[in-house]
Amino acid sequence: MKGVRFWGTRGSLPVALTSEGLGRKLREVLRAARGQAIDTDADIERLLGSLPFAVAGTYGGHSSCVQIDAGSDDYFVCDMGSGLRPFGQAAMAQRNGKVQTFHIFMSHLHWDHIMGLPFFVPAFIPGNRVILYGSHRELEFALRRQQEPPSFPVGFDTIFEGRIEFRHLEPGVPHQVAGLTVTTMLQRHTGDSYGYRFESQGKALVYSTDSEHPLADPTHTERFVQFFRDADLVIFDAMYSLADAISFKADWGHSSNVVGVELCQMANVRHLCLYHHEPVFDDAAIEAMLAETRRLEEITRDASALRVSAAYDGLELSL
Ligand SMILES: [Zn+2]
Ligand SMILES: [Zn+2]
Repeated sequence: MKGVRFWGTRGSLPVALTSEGLGRKLREVLRAARGQAIDTDADIERLLGSLPFAVAGTYGGHSSCVQIDAGSDDYFVCDMGSGLRPFGQAAMAQRNGKVQTFHIFMSHLHWDHIMGLPFFVPAFIPGNRVILYGSHRELEFALRRQQEPPSFPVGFDTIFEGRIEFRHLEPGVPHQVAGLTVTTMLQRHTGDSYGYRFESQGKALVYSTDSEHPLADPTHTERFVQFFRDADLVIFDAMYSLADAISFKADWGHSSNVVGVELCQMANVRHLCLYHHEPVFDDAAIEAMLAETRRLEEITRDASALRVSAAYDGLELSL
């Protein structure tokens, strides 16, 4: 495994940058440009590079979808949120007349993780194969139901014509999938969700979204520490602040940046990526959460440093 690319990083619902939000960024950029040389393109790049990501960029708004670069011709993806659509467009651009195989791993069946499938153009192409993996018995049922009338204009069989296959993954059992060792684990979330651990060529990647972590339960904590153990990268549901996660949003099925740091430190993880961002948060709020998480990691650091990132649509991380 070489790395990952994020195509959708929001939780619950896709969001878009509004005119008001864009206007705020533009005003900040123009203020920062006062008195600066911006005559050449290089000057402009330098200025933009000096600004915070929340001003010069955006975390984006697609819901959950992450591509794994396994270093092979096959494609590997976690979840089919609305980010699956731009991923599909990118895969189409690389097609060059060849048939393509997609292995897609499903954490669970909530809308924000399945809504991209009806818009996944590579699955419309004769000869292509799309293999959907998951530990939910209702995986096929949920995806077919999503395209039933009166909720969607085109039926599952009409557009996919048998190109989609389903594979059940027994939780806790390592499965071999096209060169990757894949293990799922049951997580605490309404309707159940499953975390994934991918291993290949001495690298380990954990995808753990839509999961609540009761801090007071040592058996639960130990299970996750073992699952995260020595991972190169953990993609973690950090939808809430700790205060929210343990107060009025307890039992909402999500976790926090603070719990992410704690579990990753205990498990000797190398890199934590905050993921499944709250749709209410604007870019400044996510950037503030990232800064707070990095400070927390620094002051609680034991031996080796834990690198902390916040996912955004388009972010690439190497393993
Ligand atoms: Zn979700
Ligand atoms: Zn969910």
